[in-house]
Amino acid sequence: MKTEQSAAAIRAIVGGRVIDPASGHDGVADILIADGQVERIGRGIASGIPEEAVIHAEGMIVAPGFIDLHTHLREPGREDEETVETGSAAGVSGGFTTVCCMPNTEPAIADQETVRFVVDRAQSAAGKVHPIGSITRDRKGESLAEIADMVAAGAVAFSDDGAPVANAGLLRRAMEYAQMFDVTLVSHCETPDLSRDGVMHEGSVSTKLGLRGIPAISEEICVARDIALARMTGCRLHIAHLSTAGSVELVRAAKAIGVRVTAEVTPHHLMLTDDLVARDFDPLLKVNPPLRTKEDVAALRDGLLDGTIDCIATDHAPHAEQEKDGEFDLAPFGMIGLETALGVCQRALIENGLADWPFLIDCLTRRAARVFGLDAGRIEPGAPADIVCFDPKAQWEVTLASLKSKSKNSPYVGWTLTGVVRATIVDGQLVYRNLSNAEPAPATARARATTTKTAGSPARR
Ligand SMILES: [Zn+2]
Repeated sequence: MKTEQSAAAIRAIVGGRVIDPASGHDGVADILIADGQVERIGRGIASGIPEEAVIHAEGMIVAPGFIDLHTHLREPGREDEETVETGSAAGVSGGFTTVCCMPNTEPAIADQETVRFVVDRAQSAAGKVHPIGSITRDRKGESLAEIADMVAAGAVAFSDDGAPVANAGLLRRAMEYAQMFDVTLVSHCETPDLSRDGVMHEGSVSTKLGLRGIPAISEEICVARDIALARMTGCRLHIAHLSTAGSVELVRAAKAIGVRVTAEVTPHHLMLTDDLVARDFDPLLKVNPPLRTKEDVAALRDGLLDGTIDCIATDHAPHAEQEKDGEFDLAPFGMIGLETALGVCQRALIENGLADWPFLIDCLTRRAARVFGLDAGRIEPGAPADIVCFDPKAQWEVTLASLKSKSKNSPYVGWTLTGVVRATIVDGQLVYRNLSNAEPAPATARARATTTKTAGSPARR
């Protein structure tokens, strides 16, 4: 059970290392907040503010709240697995102040009414939640959904994620249409004829285990096709969860000739490899696209570092315990990721010296916001005060009890991760706070915004 309490208004965050990739700021500073917006950034500017409205951030990194372009919230339809409220609560505890939720719900987010339903549910969530509408009606891949109506209702992008739009002619029409509204189409790239009923990456490990494989080329053919269509139509194309070295090459080449393509990578594809499946056939490692080889992981890291891949997105995919509990073959695809993203990315990129904090924060904030054109991801006067404060050195052990998502399907349970979120602020309201030194606060200690985020907030459209 959780406690209901109205979140406290924060007026100053003092003494932390403020890293804002959008402005290039990186140094110890105070931030003043007024009316839900950043007012000023500077040194020694926070005198005279009542103590209860101050966050002392000495030793912490203070960054724009993270933005996830790829979250599955399961509402409507599977509220037993996740809801807008519980998913957003998991998000803010992981530092995410904005999440964009995919339309593969039941029913699908495929019309104005369902977009409105999610936007409405988001009003009482701890963080900001923006729905992504489906490209095709009911995600069936047969005819176009009402894209214009959904844009008007607040959809920030369009995707049939979970499946590709297999019909290239239909995707072409969707791109021509989307371009009129300058909205982004998000492609889940997979070629059904090649993936068929595969359950893991096709390679030496799948052969050894006798499990049906999903070849890298299943993704790459679709990436190539969708890039070609984007080049022809001029549509803004975003490729979800890039997972292979070949896909990175294709996106790199497309960007070099000016195609309007962006791409994301998940924390798990930056960290985990297919050979882990051989250890214990753990269904928690079953994701789509599948975990690939260490060469793919290296290429994805390189792609992120050189800007080929624009941002990190979690593909947070909650599943009920009984569904992930059985055989590897039969389990659904997906793992949760909002709460572990910071720690897993820290390990994949910073601990090994590949990148520094400003770079990782950029991938989780400004670079993500740019893809969908969201008014978020920066700490500047006048910007929404969506801010995360985290201790970059503190560690926590991932346990079932520490996870706030309604579903617990994380392969990281038992891992010790570095980087503990101490406070998350949305529109100037403290929506999450954790002062424990050991692990994230239990769900009962979480405060939730009840009065913030009016419909007129600039992040909503
Ligand atoms: Zn997908």
